[in-house]
Amino acid sequence: MLTDSERQRLREALALERQRLLRNAQEGLSFAMNRERNVGRDSIDESTEEELFSTELRLRDREKWLLGKINSAIERLESGTIDECEECGEPIGAKRLLARPVTTLCIACKEEREKEEASTAQGARGGGFAPEPEESTLTPGTSDE
Ligand SMILES: [Zn+2]
Repeated sequence: MLTDSERQRLREALALERQRLLRNAQEGLSFAMNRERNVGRDSIDESTEEELFSTELRLRDREKWLLGKINSAIERLESGTIDECEECGEPIGAKRLLARPVTTLCIACKEEREKEEASTAQGARGGGFAPEPEESTLTPGTSDE
């Protein structure tokens, strides 16, 4: 079970991450708008332009995906289920949660899933998205406080 101060730290970490994402999303939006104004500028090679734009779209997909994870983590926090592993129902552990507030798996299930994802990813090489490694969902540096 999480203590009140652990819950408080989790709440703050999630709120902070959500703010950061929303700010990024706004910057992405103004990037897209600037691009509209620049259409027709012949100094930019068309394929580079296209590439830039699809990178931007992908980033925003990733932000949306992350935002969904953060929002559901906040819901789980408020309903008191954030430290339950969605796979086996065992407690995830405060230390792991504080390092990765959006995680939904205990360390044992996480390792199990990573093995599965690694074998699936090899088969799906070259097409579409690679599975997102969970460890990169939050900014590095939260663990060395
Ligand atoms: Zn588990």
